[in-house]
Amino acid sequence: MKKFDFHIHTCCSKHWIWGIDGLSTPREVVETAISRGLDGIAVSDHNTTKGGLIAAKIAKKIDKKFLVIPSIEVKSKTGDVLAIGVVEELTIKSRFLTAEEAVNQMREKGAVIIAPHPYGREGLGSLVGKLGFDALEGFNARILPRFNRKAKELAAKLGLPMVASSDAHIADEIANGITALNINELSIEAVKDAIIKGKTKIYQERRTKSMGRVYTKKFGLLLHIIKQPLCEPT
Ligand SMILES: [Zn+2]
Repeated sequence: MKKFDFHIHTCCSKHWIWGIDGLSTPREVVETAISRGLDGIAVSDHNTTKGGLIAAKIAKKIDKKFLVIPSIEVKSKTGDVLAIGVVEELTIKSRFLTAEEAVNQMREKGAVIIAPHPYGREGLGSLVGKLGFDALEGFNARILPRFNRKAKELAAKLGLPMVASSDAHIADEIANGITALNINELSIEAVKDAIIKGKTKIYQERRTKSMGRVYTKKFGLLLHIIKQPLCEPT
């Protein structure tokens, strides 16, 4: 069994209106995930794979046994689409994309497609059943418990595999949601295959305290400016 957090943002992640999003550098994200005993993470910045690719490079230097899966959270005009395993450098303008177009585009890139927080803000709700997702987030650490309950009900109704994720925007939130995968080999292909085949189990559900969100709001701009240079490829 291997433990993963499939939804993490770095400071390469940009909010489509005010620009600031994740506040931790790719290095901080990798180091925190390793220190919390995870076997791997998906770095899923908004509309770019930049943070994931940098984190993957850093992880190779720090700990060869730790797997970083470059990924992307596409913010479509109808809701968010989480694409796991997009290993090319990609930055997209998603404002005019529908969720269906986002799913199709990411599918072409070979990604596994997960519906993040289906009933949270920018969730796809009942659209999840219509767009051919591979799995959904049955637990997202940043949203209200009743929305996670609804997500689990939806997974049961649609027969979709579930993952648990932190949706971390600062490194301290990492591992608040953990998915256990029934795999022996640690590779991107093995992880994608396990999700598609439903070899996933929600392992940890720990709701992110509101302090994390306050911190993001108060110090966001400052931290963002300081850390931006670290989001350039090394
Ligand atoms: Zn997110």
